[in-house]
Amino acid sequence: MRVLVVEDEQRLAAAVRRGLQAEGFAVDLAHNGPDGLHLAREGGYDAVVLDLMLPGLSGYRVCQQLRAEENWVPILILSAKDGEYDLADGLDLGADDYLTKPFSYVVLAARLRALLRRGAAPRPAVLQAGDLSLDPGTRQVRRAGTEISLTPREFALLEYLLRRAGQVVSKATLLEHVWDSFDTTELNAVEVYAGYLRRKIDVPFGRAALQTVRGAGYRLAADGG
Ligand code: CA
Repeated sequence: MRVLVVEDEQRLAAAVRRGLQAEGFAVDLAHNGPDGLHLAREGGYDAVVLDLMLPGLSGYRVCQQLRAEENWVPILILSAKDGEYDLADGLDLGADDYLTKPFSYVVLAARLRALLRRGAAPRPAVLQAGDLSLDPGTRQVRRAGTEISLTPREFALLEYLLRRAGQVVSKATLLEHVWDSFDTTELNAVEVYAGYLRRKIDVPFGRAALQTVRGAGYRLAADGG
């Protein structure tokens, strides 16, 4: 598996390369945005690890440009914890995952393997439940024609539920798939985010698509509520 790492901090880039090579990846480096974009376009990579703050062209723009060209290579964004950008924006531009610096190479490799398993499949068509729609390609969510702004976590939660509209999905399943976590102490995070989501997709529209199924989990009404 060949991975492109776009990171302008040369020592970090070299360390990431060593770390990923130790995990069995073949790694190429780019140290600025334009080179990263060029290589990502031409290189046939299985995944791209993309820093956000890059000279020449930000990681956001690289990501946005690739997606605009319908290049669906899996992209994992790296960013400093207190960067001036919100990681959320990266996911909204079509990145697949992100990690905050500092991170462990073992975790990075595990995340990459997860992305590689998913592969660079074209983004599917718009998901819909009644007048509620989510476009995984453009990352736009609409209700009755009104665009709704969601955080990446809210978006991921809604996407997962929409793909299983009408079915009951347990909190543990959501935690595992949306949070990439098996830590059941975080189960209340699912409730918190379900609440956030309701306040955006249901409450302002006087609807009730996101239903709590007591003792079982959540169900997104297939008719949009
Ligand atoms: Ca940087």
